Amino acid sequence: MITVTNAVKDFGDFRALDGVSLDVPAGSLTALLGPSGSGKSTLLRAIAGLELLDSGTIEIEGLDVTDVPPQRRGIGFVFQHYAAFRHMTVRDNVGFGLKIRKESKSVIRSRVDELLDLVGLGGLQDRYPAQLSGGQRQRMALARALAIQPQVMLLDEPFGALDAKVRAELREWLRRLHDEVHVTTILVTHDQEEALDVADHIAVLNQGRLEQVGEPTDLYDHPANAFVMGFLGSVS
Ligand code: ATP
Ligand code: MG
Repeated sequence: MITVTNAVKDFGDFRALDGVSLDVPAGSLTALLGPSGSGKSTLLRAIAGLELLDSGTIEIEGLDVTDVPPQRRGIGFVFQHYAAFRHMTVRDNVGFGLKIRKESKSVIRSRVDELLDLVGLGGLQDRYPAQLSGGQRQRMALARALAIQPQVMLLDEPFGALDAKVRAELREWLRRLHDEVHVTTILVTHDQEEALDVADHIAVLNQGRLEQVGEPTDLYDHPANAFVMGFLGSVS
């Protein structure tokens, strides 16, 4: 469970988060949906500790992490533009977080193999990132984020740069992965179809304010206001 309470974030005199309160249920796959500039990445980065709030609090699994540095929040993060070490193999990329945590070689090897199988990259462990397709790279990024067994996965438009067919494939992978590991996940997207398709909860953000949170059918059948109705109904 992630609980954000009255989060406010200003950039100069621009208020990017304007008092956001949000409960993300434990084990859920929650889509954070909203138009460009609505504050999705800012909220995600604040939960990760990459952005400090001006006021408000963030709790993860009942622990107030508002002042905890990012590396001690137990978070796996995947960005739109994959960030991989180009000079390292797939195996070493996925195992990196475990290596810096001083896990033994055999633990790293077995966990990495397991994760690569889970994301359908078994057999590609000796390749370099440049030798993977865009979709394979993002699956490697998912495996890498999961390697440290995070309490929370934060995905910021992880499929945004890919074509429609690969996006659909990756959604399927994400859902399967989530069924397998059940880690509390927030998926940022501005694609309502993606949110409705993959998530079990949807949070709609608009101009730094949370408009509605609920199960996809609740939002679709009972939108809280015209914005939610218009946004869910519109085609990207
Ligand atoms: P997108 O869908 O385009 O990624 P978003 O919902 O993720 O949009 P944010 O990146 O959270 O939006 O930005 C919210 C607002 O805050 C935007 O108006 C943006 O210009 C502003 N903003 C974000 N980061 C900064 C920054 N470091 N300095 C100044 N303004 C910023
Ligand atoms: Mg963003």
